[in-house]
Amino acid sequence: MANKNFQLIVAGGGITGSALLYTLSRYTNLQSIALLEKHDGLGQANTSGLRNSQTLHFGDIETNYNLEKAKKVKIGASMVAKYLDRLPSNNGIFLHSNSMILAIGENEIKTLKERFEQFKEAYPDLKRIEADEIAKIEPQIMQGRDPQIPVLALYSTTGYTVNYQKLAESFVQNTDKNKTEIFFNTKIKSIKKSGDNYIVTTDQDTFTAPVVVVALGTHSLLFAKHLGYGLEYAVLPVIGDYYTSDHRLLNGKVYTMQNEKLPFAAVHGDPNIFDTAETRFGPTALSLPILERGSLKTLPDFFRSAGFDWNAFMTIVKIHSDPDILKFIIENFIFTLPFIGRSAFVKNIAKIIPTIKKSDLQSKKGLGGIRPQLVNKKERRLLLGAAEILGDKIIFNVTPSPGATACLQNALGMTKKIEEFFGGQIQFDETSFKRDFID
Ligand SMILES: Cc1cc2nc3c(=O)[nH]c(=O)nc-3n(C[C@H](O)[C@H](O)[C@H](O)COP(=O)(O)OP(=O)(O)OC[C@H]3O[C@@H](n4cnc5c(N)ncnc54)[C@H](O)[C@@H]3O)c2cc1C
Repeated sequence: MANKNFQLIVAGGGITGSALLYTLSRYTNLQSIALLEKHDGLGQANTSGLRNSQTLHFGDIETNYNLEKAKKVKIGASMVAKYLDRLPSNNGIFLHSNSMILAIGENEIKTLKERFEQFKEAYPDLKRIEADEIAKIEPQIMQGRDPQIPVLALYSTTGYTVNYQKLAESFVQNTDKNKTEIFFNTKIKSIKKSGDNYIVTTDQDTFTAPVVVVALGTHSLLFAKHLGYGLEYAVLPVIGDYYTSDHRLLNGKVYTMQNEKLPFAAVHGDPNIFDTAETRFGPTALSLPILERGSLKTLPDFFRSAGFDWNAFMTIVKIHSDPDILKFIIENFIFTLPFIGRSAFVKNIAKIIPTIKKSDLQSKKGLGGIRPQLVNKKERRLLLGAAEILGDKIIFNVTPSPGATACLQNALGMTKKIEEFFGGQIQFDETSFKRDFID
């Protein structure tokens, strides 16, 4: 086993690690950066197109975001859109897609109308459309719908469907190769501090660097805890699965109105970038003690990183004591049950497509991911967005949705911190980065 030295190590080749590697190699004068990934390629965990909804979240159709949060999300999404639009060839990385938020019944319509008034300045492309126009754009939404129940939608033609795994590959292809080295099939076993360096032990070689970024998704908290950081957190892995149709039911993304107490997007229908003749519905939400989809091997790692104790337990009890959240959890549990799950899910999807039948949907093996929701045990609350734990010249990143959308925004924030870690020894050309992605 060799010992390899670098100025910086990025642990994890998902969208977070890949976007950071791209940013560091192109916009700083760091000369040697390693990226370590346990799989034989990039983006095979939550970043894979099989594991997430493939949405570039602009905040316009996600009614769980208030205007302030939506504007922040929009900045992150616009950065990715700028990158995508500049690519010389698309290669299946993204599709331009229409997106719609659908309100059903008087109460939802009232909320959506108020939201439109609040949001229309920040989202000038967003159009308010009534039933007849909805029927032209998405005929299945109106077919067989009870005419007594009114509907209203906000609609945009400027959305994107993204294969984030391919985007991660594109970031890495476009790094400055003289400065970066990628190590696949390299599983990190431990990260320890020794003097001014971190020693990253893997099942291949040992790597050392003064600065490390841990972008291991659901696994990041485990490594933070080994180094004594993030002890106030427990991780609550929430599985999100999809049901899929083998024929096109929708022409674009259709989201439903969100209960603002819930941390996850309400059920939606999306085109599938791998096969646009298909429509996917979901994701569901079910908490299970594993860190990777379909991998029972990660059960011990869950217990090692979960940090479950009395405070964590009480936090979970407190979260579940809200009747809306409890109802949501029970409903979602039912969706995952054999035999009755699909029927129950179909009833839920009938909000979007009233004529949908059980035979229209299948559950495909390997479809769905895990959202690593952090629970702050001290404050007894669920953290809704991304979490970043800062240590001594080390950053731990944990990004549930919309983490893939925020990849360049997070890379910007982390690069600024990395520049500080090096105390003037390296420079970040933030002006060029902002010129390329923000201005
Ligand atoms: C159901 C669902 C729907 C979602 N929908 C959207 C959406 O529509 N839009 C959006 O923007 N976001 C969405 N997200 C969130 C998004 O998928 C994640 O935020 C994002 O993929 C996280 O990327 P990451 O690189 O941080 O983590 P990951 O993609 O999980 O990458 C972590 C990497 O670390 C590697 N790794 C782990 N342990 C080790 C180890 N010991 N040694 C070496 N390597 C290791 C893994 O193999 C992996 O490649 C969704 C998530 C879920 C679960």
